Amino acid sequence: MSPELARAESLIASIPDYPQPGILFRDIMPLLADARALRATTAALIEPFAGSFDIVAGIEARGFILAGAAAIAAGVGFAPIRKAGKLPRPAAAVDYALEYGTATVEMHDDLPTGTRVLLIDDVLATGGTLAAGRQIVERLGYHVAGISVLFEIDGLGGREAIGDLHTVFHSA
Ligand code: AMP
Repeated sequence: MSPELARAESLIASIPDYPQPGILFRDIMPLLADARALRATTAALIEPFAGSFDIVAGIEARGFILAGAAAIAAGVGFAPIRKAGKLPRPAAAVDYALEYGTATVEMHDDLPTGTRVLLIDDVLATGGTLAAGRQIVERLGYHVAGISVLFEIDGLGGREAIGDLHTVFHSA
């Protein structure tokens, strides 16, 4: 890992028992607040996929921040994958399991068929969120060019659930 990325990684805070007991929350906000770290991690998120995607999709909410930065860095546009009920135009929806209950993500259906989408999120835990993101991109007839995540939490099954993905940092 480059010294610049190692410096960026050191800015990720680990908050015990947030938002509930037993969860070690990985807080990327100090990294986002640092210009050098934000630039280095944005470059690392897109580097393996250079030239192979037409648009970057981010998953609400922290995924939006990284995906927006990645889209500008790559010279492409941004598409949101949102929680249920927030998109104003026709959209597809996918339900997925949370630890307790279910959630829904939605994405607009107006990109050209076959659009190559780079999917970005901040943290990979069980992989449920990104699996739903991938499913909705495919259901809409777009192509998943790659999945890129800033921080992978090892041992929660995310990599097994998603398979082929790129992560900049991981917890082990
Ligand atoms: P999962 O669907 O289990 O992979 O959870 C990933 C989503 O939940 C991501 O969008 C993260 O923002 C958030 N998340 C899950 N676990 C954590 C954690 N320990 N720290 C920070 N964010 C988390």
